[in-house]
Amino acid sequence: MKRHVIIGNGTAAVGCIEGIRSVNREDAITVVSKENHSVYSRPLISYYLEGKTDTERMRYRDENFYSENRCDVRYGVTVDKIDTASGECVLSSGERIPFDDVCVAAGSTPFVPPMEGLDTVPKRFGFMTLDDALSLEKELTPKTRVLIVGAGLIGLKCAEGIRDRVGSIIVCDLADRVLSSILDSECAAIVQKHLESNGISFLLSDSVAKFDGCTAYMKSGASVAFDVLVLAVGVRANIGLVKDLGGTVNRGIVVDTAMETSIPGVYAAGDCAEGYDASLGANRVLAILPNAYLQGRTAGINMAGGDEKFTNGIPMNSIGFFGLHIMSAGTYDGEMSEEKADGILKRFFVRDDHLRGYILIGETGRAGIYTALVREQTPLSEIDFEAAKKIAGSAIFSADVRRKKFGGAV
Ligand SMILES: Cc1cc2nc3c(=O)[nH]c(=O)nc-3n(C[C@H](O)[C@H](O)[C@H](O)COP(=O)(O)OP(=O)(O)OC[C@H]3O[C@@H](n4cnc5c(N)ncnc54)[C@H](O)[C@@H]3O)c2cc1C
Repeated sequence: MKRHVIIGNGTAAVGCIEGIRSVNREDAITVVSKENHSVYSRPLISYYLEGKTDTERMRYRDENFYSENRCDVRYGVTVDKIDTASGECVLSSGERIPFDDVCVAAGSTPFVPPMEGLDTVPKRFGFMTLDDALSLEKELTPKTRVLIVGAGLIGLKCAEGIRDRVGSIIVCDLADRVLSSILDSECAAIVQKHLESNGISFLLSDSVAKFDGCTAYMKSGASVAFDVLVLAVGVRANIGLVKDLGGTVNRGIVVDTAMETSIPGVYAAGDCAEGYDASLGANRVLAILPNAYLQGRTAGINMAGGDEKFTNGIPMNSIGFFGLHIMSAGTYDGEMSEEKADGILKRFFVRDDHLRGYILIGETGRAGIYTALVREQTPLSEIDFEAAKKIAGSAIFSADVRRKKFGGAV
């Protein structure tokens, strides 16, 4: 019987537990959880503030999950060191947990750049955890003026979540557009306009020079008076435990397709890992929930003695703000073609006969087909791509490919 330790208790940890148990029921599993909650769906924290869900419905697995999977969970403690010499994880409580292998599923930590006067701001929050949402909620009144620093996914989801509960929201960002890591200027402008029409104000291409209590003095010379500050500038993968071991790290913990790090017996999965991106043909951090689960599951299967590879991860976002749907996937690399209609913009990026990526705004039908084309890197010469944009299912494949893929059944 092997002893597995999983560091972290998010989506990647769940994937790892289910991966291990898909191979055997006997191995011992210990989960070390910094957060004092059983696993919940992190993207739902803004929906909680919006009143669209509650802490019970936010559970990612039901309350019997850990006992049914025979997991020993240690809540409210961290692993501070992986001691490969003694084969033990050292906890913040001082306890040492022996292991045969480890999965680092430690996610990421909000990045807060040095900002003058930040410690003078009385009410400031991050927006990464359920505890962040619960603390923020206590400060929201119909008169509260909120300043959100960061116009990325997390800052904007926070804005949507609290819009109906506060007096005003201003979002500022150094970038010249919203969602700058996934949208170009034209796409971002559509989203920004929609957010503005829903009561969110923006200060873009601007950043805070200095805080003085509840006033932010911007580099542009503007000043913003606020009651509550939310910092959503960005996140950094939690690479420290593996870096301390001398393992290979980059922006994330570098893993192979089995999700094993450069240190034998030490695996990594989810937002802390830098795994293979099929749309790029290289490793990068793929910080989205489905990849966290699948990477964790792959790690778990291999830790339990199975043989699994994760080779078709891609960056992918499916986001909605006040009813406007946005989907994007893959890499925006190659020749771009687009379709435009009122409030709708679709962009496709093709290189070397492959769909490398896409952006859909306002109309996201057929996204499943496009995502499969990016994920599986299907040669476009094997299908009728123009038809793929209009008709459904397997008809886009040639008769020959249909026979190979589906055995002539369709
Ligand atoms: C507001 C918000 C909205 C999002 N929306 C989407 C979305 O729409 N779609 C999507 O795909 N993704 C979305 N994401 C991203 C998604 O939530 C993450 O990709 C996913 O949760 C990553 O899972 P993980 O298990 O790798 O890490 P996490 O869920 O972050 O779990 C890691 C856990 O490890 C703990 N930990 C860290 N260090 C230690 C240690 N040393 N010892 C013990 N425990 C430790 C952390 O406290 C944390 O609880 C969103 C994220 C946020 C914050």
